[in-house]
Amino acid sequence: MSNEADYYDQYVDISPEDYIRETQLNHPAQVERAAKIIENFPTEAMSVLDVGCGGGIALHRLLGARPELQAVGLERSAPTAQAARNLFGLEIVEGSADALPFEDGQFDVVMANEVLEHLPWGVFEKTIEEMTRVARIGVLITTPYAERRQFVTCPKCTCEFNPFYHLRSFDDVTLAGLFAGFERVAQEIVWTKGHPPLLYQLRRMKAALGWIPALPQHTICPQCGYRHQKKRNAPKKVEVEAPSERGLGRLFIRAMGLIPRPKRAKWALVLYRRDAV
Ligand SMILES: [Zn+2]
Repeated sequence: MSNEADYYDQYVDISPEDYIRETQLNHPAQVERAAKIIENFPTEAMSVLDVGCGGGIALHRLLGARPELQAVGLERSAPTAQAARNLFGLEIVEGSADALPFEDGQFDVVMANEVLEHLPWGVFEKTIEEMTRVARIGVLITTPYAERRQFVTCPKCTCEFNPFYHLRSFDDVTLAGLFAGFERVAQEIVWTKGHPPLLYQLRRMKAALGWIPALPQHTICPQCGYRHQKKRNAPKKVEVEAPSERGLGRLFIRAMGLIPRPKRAKWALVLYRRDAV
């Protein structure tokens, strides 16, 4: 399996179902995203395809509000697809976003939530074409907005990469004309507090000085496959110790959180409608 596929499949040491239940199901960001999708979802639509549906949370919540929808999810990762079926009873087709196994105009709305920013060159362009081909009425996407991507350095091979595997960033201009033959009819931007200043920059500065911090635990180096291993079965320490570097790092991050930060755009929801013929 490629490092990239491995990244999207990993559930650390719990099952995909538990991973989705524990880390995503009631996560505020997921709840907020689903609410915006429901709010903006075309009222006349009777069917929906969710491209790259992951564990199916967005579809599950959308169906809660719109139970009449005929809903299908498309997911590349087999364990994730199965988890979505088990957890929510969804219809999930396994496949790749750049070759949708569906007819032209088969779904009233085709959506892709937090997917497009992950797609490499070639796959991205083909996916956009495929989504426009399969959508009868509209396309709905959510994506990070005007994201200034941060990078980490792999301690083994020193390659730099975005730890969330974001390969591209969208702004007002790139979003406007994303789907040929479709017009952008709604765009909502969700705001958040700015990044802790210097957090990732500090990591990179340390790397430039020869000390490369461990990778964040959720990620895998796309080049060499290295990941930071959690220490397991370490004997419990009873004596009180001076704060470790890790503890200090945590303290630093917490202190950063106290610095007032200007709000920044977090993600955008965009709804497109097919141009009248
Ligand atoms: Zn590496």
